[in-house]
Amino acid sequence: MITGAGYLDSHCHLQKRHLSSIIDDIMVRARSAGVARIFCNTTREEDWQAVVDLAARGHEVIPFLGIHPWFAETAVAGWEDRLMSLLQKVPAGIGETGLDKCCRADFGRQQQIFLTQLKMASELQRPLVIHCVKAWGRLLEILEQFADPLPPIMIHSFAGSRETLQRLIRLGCFISFSGRLTAAGKVHPCFSETPMTNLLLETDSHGQPLVGGAMDGARTTDEPAAITMLYELAATMREMDLNEFRHQIWKNGEIFTDTIVPR
Ligand SMILES: [Zn+2]
Repeated sequence: MITGAGYLDSHCHLQKRHLSSIIDDIMVRARSAGVARIFCNTTREEDWQAVVDLAARGHEVIPFLGIHPWFAETAVAGWEDRLMSLLQKVPAGIGETGLDKCCRADFGRQQQIFLTQLKMASELQRPLVIHCVKAWGRLLEILEQFADPLPPIMIHSFAGSRETLQRLIRLGCFISFSGRLTAAGKVHPCFSETPMTNLLLETDSHGQPLVGGAMDGARTTDEPAAITMLYELAATMREMDLNEFRHQIWKNGEIFTDTIVPR
């Protein structure tokens, strides 16, 4: 039984066009599983309005607007001003943004786009969602040398080293773990070493169709309702009562989004 606050899915992308015909079902399943808050992230300007619209339809969805490093080159002149004016109208975080050395987008361009969003988040004190793949050195350098106050930061689907983790924690970042936690590997020690007050959990749900077949019209393999399994696993790994664990993650999410979601 769910008591108190519900489950939080701290990162997903429900605006994907192929989900539009089943989004209502996805939300119904999320609600009946007890998922009461979902941080939904854009990847490029084309997505911004769709995420704003989703958030307007259901109070569970908290919008994050930004440009993902994979799509750095889709950023066209004036994007910063358009993002800024949207952020002034909508209580939204910024994301997903970041740095990724394993994608095709020019790394210089990625850094420009990321820095602009970091500065915007700092100026407005909006929560910022960071994606980082094989660019930890540069990311840490940017964050550690940042002259202005850092915004609230979440590192999504963390898969870095233990040393990186410690430096991010010293900077006050929230560390979000995804379904990678279900596979043994280097994520496990990092998960165990993340203080409970910095921890978040996510599906990173992109609504992939069921493996080996077309969408059956309803089910997707990863969607916010599936987060409950991750919480059960995570609470067991931390040797904590599930309710107590879930309350702490909920609280962390509230602290992360303090400037955009009234408590
Ligand atoms: Zn994502």
